[in-house]
Amino acid sequence: MKIGIAGGYLSYYGFSEGLKRMKAQGYECLDDALLANTDNAIFSATPAEFERKLTERRKEIEDNGIIVSQTHGPWRWPPKDATEEDRKERFEKMSMAIVGTALMGTKNFIIHPIMPYGCDRERNPRMMWEMNLDFFGKLLEVAIANDVIINFENMPMVALAMASVPSTLDFVKAINSPNFKMCLDTGHCAILGMDIGEAVRLIGKDYLQTLHVHDNNGNNDSHWIPYTGVCNWSDFAKALQEIDFQGSMSLETFIPRQIPDDLRPLQEQSLFQMACKIAGRTF
Ligand SMILES: [Zn+2]
Repeated sequence: MKIGIAGGYLSYYGFSEGLKRMKAQGYECLDDALLANTDNAIFSATPAEFERKLTERRKEIEDNGIIVSQTHGPWRWPPKDATEEDRKERFEKMSMAIVGTALMGTKNFIIHPIMPYGCDRERNPRMMWEMNLDFFGKLLEVAIANDVIINFENMPMVALAMASVPSTLDFVKAINSPNFKMCLDTGHCAILGMDIGEAVRLIGKDYLQTLHVHDNNGNNDSHWIPYTGVCNWSDFAKALQEIDFQGSMSLETFIPRQIPDDLRPLQEQSLFQMACKIAGRTF
């Protein structure tokens, strides 16, 4: 199992320096977040410029001996998916991000559901489900055309019926396509009160495509490092072995910015070793 980390890691050191440090610590893959923030200038580039920029980015990553294992699709806070126009705008940006995912050399595009009623209330669970079915049914065609897999992620919003692992899985099964699978976010799963090993077993090999690995206190989506919160990591590791998970151990956590520079290497090394341990690898 390859070990990876989310792009936020690179923001502390800057892209080029961050890649070098990642490689030196032993990471093999990156969860690239460039396409998550649609305010980024790349979303207003011409198609040719878009392709050139992403090809250059991919080359720099690969020149450092790292591959992109997954990208994070467009997401904004708070969600703004209430009108037909909002959803059309999201669809266009997500379609661009799917093209970008293929350009980055990976099949895995991770995305959150659209939230037409926001994230803190559930005015009409049935309608939210139907809107997502319609939205992602159409986005699936873009994914298939680009040989990309949409990885639908479980969410931490306790008020949303679609957030939990079982309902995310139900939705993925309802779409019913080899180009539509699931990203298990361990921290989100813990907030919804579900054991992360149990979640792996429930999703199973056929549907579990990618991971977002982080911990928390069971209430806040704090993206803590593994073993510092409520998650049962040894059972999670066991469950991944049981289902013969073929994807990457991709961390979605970081060493806090306030840790001084001279202490960071040790902390970073220890985080990498935790990921290896969960992946059942030696370090
Ligand atoms: Zn996540």
